[in-house]
Amino acid sequence: MDNELLNMELLSGPLYKNALKQLDLACTAMKLDPNVAARLKYPKRALIVSVPVRMDDKSIKVFEGYRVQHSLTLGPGKGGVRYHPSVTLSETAALAMLMTLKCSLFGLPLGGAKGGVRCNPNQMSRQEKQNLTRRYTSEISNIIGPDKDIPAPDIGTDEQTMAWMMDTYSQEIGFAVPGVVTGKPLSIGGSLGRTDSTGQGVAYTIMSAAKHLNMTLDKDTTVIVQGYGKVGYSAARKMDKIGCKIIAVSDENGGIYNPKGLDIEAIHKHLTAKKNLAGFPEAQPVTNTELLELKCDILIPAAVESQITEKNAGKLKCKILAEGANSPTTLEADPILFDKGIFVIPDILANAGGVTVSYFEWVQGLQKFFWDEKEVHNRLWNIMETTFEKVLAVHKEYKVNMRTAALISSLQHLSKAMLVRGFFP
Ligand code: GLU
Repeated sequence: MDNELLNMELLSGPLYKNALKQLDLACTAMKLDPNVAARLKYPKRALIVSVPVRMDDKSIKVFEGYRVQHSLTLGPGKGGVRYHPSVTLSETAALAMLMTLKCSLFGLPLGGAKGGVRCNPNQMSRQEKQNLTRRYTSEISNIIGPDKDIPAPDIGTDEQTMAWMMDTYSQEIGFAVPGVVTGKPLSIGGSLGRTDSTGQGVAYTIMSAAKHLNMTLDKDTTVIVQGYGKVGYSAARKMDKIGCKIIAVSDENGGIYNPKGLDIEAIHKHLTAKKNLAGFPEAQPVTNTELLELKCDILIPAAVESQITEKNAGKLKCKILAEGANSPTTLEADPILFDKGIFVIPDILANAGGVTVSYFEWVQGLQKFFWDEKEVHNRLWNIMETTFEKVLAVHKEYKVNMRTAALISSLQHLSKAMLVRGFFP
């Protein structure tokens, strides 16, 4: 059978299987040309690298890293780099596919890619992380670049990681190449508003969903956020600013709950000082499983994948589910949520604020002309609102759920580009 090895490897992970099934559903619903659909099932290119790292105790440890380019039809590859113990080729390929669909949905002139190294950054020193990042960048340097593929932060990586990647790539080329990554520090060509952009975008799509559902967002609107990293924290902060009541938040160790509302900035200070949510005053502890099942108006899973499954979907008590994380919901959970009347804002729509501002950063860098924060926010708001409306129109026209609608909308744009470019050779 064709592609046997690739199939075996890619289908070994639940995320890839889930992504393929989602893709299939959308292709069937929109009757996509099967020749186009077949090409989207596999990544265009997948690179596996060994990343030997000198650890602080002078020993050398070899990590496994990946960079997967799912599609380069619309432009250079785009997608984050993940440092996490669960990173695999299959997971990276699934996330690369999601990036293709996300960029196409938002009409960005970018393809889809993803990278990752299987490691635990929480147990590594700053020097070890720098060594890892520099060697990983060097190993993938012949397939990345401002016109080829542009990495960005994801789980376990940040602005500093991007600065090291940019420096390593630039050292190899011989001059500064800021456009090789996005999500960089401002001092080397980063964009204002990039750090908060994913959470900000999640909040913008919630505002659009609330308008569609005739729901007011005020002090009686309760919000729960799972995951208090970059995305969760900025989404919570924005929802708090809009005037909603954040009643529960969590990190990987568990959560805190207070039906009267939580003080977002006090939590941030507590977390910065104690590195843990536990012990936060005036709140009761909850587990991550309990947190998802608490009654609220808006639930934002902003942690890792596969948190909402067929086992707990029936127990959710929210009106809007806004997917801040990539793939937090399994395919089996979708019809259960739909039957319960929960309005799902799917990941490729809800969390695309990050890659959208990455695109703004890339554009500003190419023009060597930088925008103020207000301009970044206004442009982000416009693109998020327009795309939400576009997905809503497909949702009504095809009578499919919002996830399938987002995929159809994305595939309409991508397939047009694939067909007009034609087939090579
Ligand atoms: N890692 C983010 C995502 O999954 C951002 C990617 C980017 O900015 O390229 O969307």
